[in-house]
Amino acid sequence: MNMKRNKPILVAGTMAFDEIITTSANSGKIIGGAATYISYSSSFFTNDIYVSSIIGNDFPISFLHEMNSKGIFTGMIEVSKKDKSFYWKGEYKNDFNNRVTHLTHLNALEFYKPNLNKHSINFDLVMLGNLDPVIQMDIYSQVKNDHNFVILDTMNYWIEKTEKELFEIISKVNLVVINDEESQMLGKSDLIEECAKNILSCGPDYIIIKKGSQGAELFSKHQRSTIPALDNIKVVDPTGAGDSFVGGVCGYLASRPSISFKEIHNAMIYGSVVASFCIEEFGLARLQKISKEIIDERIKTFASYLL
Ligand code: AMP
Repeated sequence: MNMKRNKPILVAGTMAFDEIITTSANSGKIIGGAATYISYSSSFFTNDIYVSSIIGNDFPISFLHEMNSKGIFTGMIEVSKKDKSFYWKGEYKNDFNNRVTHLTHLNALEFYKPNLNKHSINFDLVMLGNLDPVIQMDIYSQVKNDHNFVILDTMNYWIEKTEKELFEIISKVNLVVINDEESQMLGKSDLIEECAKNILSCGPDYIIIKKGSQGAELFSKHQRSTIPALDNIKVVDPTGAGDSFVGGVCGYLASRPSISFKEIHNAMIYGSVVASFCIEEFGLARLQKISKEIIDERIKTFASYLL
């Protein structure tokens, strides 16, 4: 495939070991993390991706080589000599919409001090993946310029622990991507539309609210659009669905000449399709087997929703 290299993306987030329990299986210790899923998913659309993260002394270097082969630059990833990688253990009980976190061990992440100034790259897209909002702000301050587009993802863990800091960074970004539960926590309402309005009033231009099996909605101050979820997907493990969604959004936007409401709407469709592959196997396993051609094939079922 012929991919343009003219829109560098910075992806910041965790790189991790996960352990996932479903009603039918236990994944054991597998590679996960927000930056891992996001960068991997973006790489179907562009090959100019830079990851900022920290890994521990237990993370397999062979996996970094695999990322490199997908057009993901891993030279900004810090390697801790003394600490282990971020570790997260979660369980899906009766249905895949309800996840319980059993363990979050920050490990090396506690000592993550991103220093991006030395790389002097002008990133067109900055993807602040799920991380401590103080670190998200630090990265933002280092890479923000007059023309780049900044996307932010977060999760309940950070909303509960660091809401004030989270709002500080939300007020600066262009696009916030969260799920419906998180939007209610941040938007302080039971009504999705009201939550979107409240969050947009803090500063972002756009917000995407992911609604799992109900699809996703995009809001700007004056526009609103919806996409449905794909049905007929056999779910094995939804972990990483949110990150691969946003990775697809990011990668698609990087492949477009400009960013607008319409392009973000279309990007949601690509994000949903990438996420629909992610959930078909544990961890990254399914994403490791697909190609842009396979994604495009599934996009056809969504074609009537493209603007
Ligand atoms: P999701 O797309 O929401 O399913 O994200 C799953 C990924 O988030 C897993 O691979 C975890 O390693 C990672 N993760 C879990 N908890 C956190 C956290 N508090 N901060 C950052 N990343 C996390």
